[in-house]
Amino acid sequence: MTQTYDVVVVGGGPAGSTAATVVAMRGHRVLLLEKQTFPRYQIGESLLPSTVHGLCRILGVADEVARAGFTLKRGGTFRWGRNPEPWQFSFAMSPRLPEPTSTAFQVERSRFDEILLRNAARVGVDVRQGCQVRGVLEATDRVRGVEYEAADGTRHTVDARYVVDASGNTSRIHGRVGGSRTYSDFFRNLAVFGYFAGGQRLPEPNAGNIFCAAFDAGWLWYIPLRDDLTSVGAVIAEEHRASVQRDPTAAWRSMIERCPEVADKLVGVPTATEPPYDQVRVRKDYSYWKRSFWTPGMVLVGDAACFVDPVLSSGVHLATYGALLAARSINACLAGTVAEERSFAEFEARYRREYGVFYEFLVSFYDMQRDEQSYFWQAKKVTAVDATETAAFAELVGGLLPGETGVGVRLADASADLDRAVDRLATADDRRNPLYTSRTVGETFRQGRNLQEEALYGAPLDDTEPPVPNGLALAKDGLAWIA
Ligand code: FAD
Repeated sequence: MTQTYDVVVVGGGPAGSTAATVVAMRGHRVLLLEKQTFPRYQIGESLLPSTVHGLCRILGVADEVARAGFTLKRGGTFRWGRNPEPWQFSFAMSPRLPEPTSTAFQVERSRFDEILLRNAARVGVDVRQGCQVRGVLEATDRVRGVEYEAADGTRHTVDARYVVDASGNTSRIHGRVGGSRTYSDFFRNLAVFGYFAGGQRLPEPNAGNIFCAAFDAGWLWYIPLRDDLTSVGAVIAEEHRASVQRDPTAAWRSMIERCPEVADKLVGVPTATEPPYDQVRVRKDYSYWKRSFWTPGMVLVGDAACFVDPVLSSGVHLATYGALLAARSINACLAGTVAEERSFAEFEARYRREYGVFYEFLVSFYDMQRDEQSYFWQAKKVTAVDATETAAFAELVGGLLPGETGVGVRLADASADLDRAVDRLATADDRRNPLYTSRTVGETFRQGRNLQEEALYGAPLDDTEPPVPNGLALAKDGLAWIA
């Protein structure tokens, strides 16, 4: 029998829970279908303040997340660039954010994602786990629903005004929107990661920071999840694919050995044996985007739409921010206040711009690292960015970024800008982080700041330029656009 909803959301990760919750908060009928049964494992453990204090507050889970006992993250510590000494990037030194919200968390995603999913059910979303979406249903000129298989093997169809694909990087249905994925040449890396049952912590007040250390083959993350649990991952070049596939655990251990700044923190510490942390996992081909993020009746959010390199911990921010934007467009359409084309153009422009800003920043961040001997870092020079990548990037942001867009001169400027900011960290007093005075960093974190201000004060403190001329404004409740 066909069931009917206003919106069906595919996937119960942060993107799916966010989209479903924000639509349900407007009183609409929402069904969320999740293939697995929570709690389930996912990578992406280091969050940004925009998620913790912005998005989670908008969803109504900020207090629950704060009480969950996750490791407090004050910023990032990097062994990166010319400076041989590690340097800190602290959220608290942002001149514009009030102190209590200048923090984030390192989270076990199984627990964090379950909090968001339960909250979706609490606000009225019909959450069904163990339900795998098999395909989308078509009307003449739009998507009209999905077909799914329930845990007991029975097949069902759902009619809905909108389908939200939030089924992550393994999405089987994203191809209905914007064709196949465009993969970044520049970020065509491989990640191999696992867990230790402990590990040394950085000195306070930075003990909860993410630590990222560059080494000859790439870079490593070191994320303190609990006193007795540390997430350690290597991001390395594609050329290691065969050896990683042959023996992921041996490859992971050998990458850690090649990076003394991380290896020294793990001397005598055993690897974790508790599930799901007892495995070494591999992810590849994770930096991509789509030509379009929506089509009539269907929208892509989170990893189903795009992702780029984990070094700045932007994945969950981009996923939940994109989902919030999509939900606002859906709510505006369901209310009948904005035409569909206009409403989703707003979603797409804002989402692309945010993704593009992070993408540009990441390229210049990689460019900061100097290791002339290493194949990995040689290939990550701005000067090595090829014409295909430039063309692909221009297609991605098409006129949405301020100034001269594209990978090239502007990125070289951004990279020098970052370099100068990091150099000045050495001489800065501790009240104001010079990284925030960098044009590039300021732009990258602008939207995150706006999101937090919106959650705290109802609107960004500064008027923000709409990303497209004559862009739509936000409704008073923050849950939809108004023309
Ligand atoms: P997911 O979290 O993947 O959720 C998708 C859900 O959809 C899953 O629960 C899945 O079971 C379900 N699903 C799939 N198919 C179906 C189907 N057919 N029917 C029903 N349900 C389905 N981000 C950060 O913020 N910080 C980090 O430190 C970070 N580190 C990362 C490191 C690596 C190596 C990688 C690759 C990514 C990292 N990320 C990080 C990114 C982060 O993992 C993702 O951006 C984030 O999980 C995206 O959330 P999502 O909701 O879009 O997808």
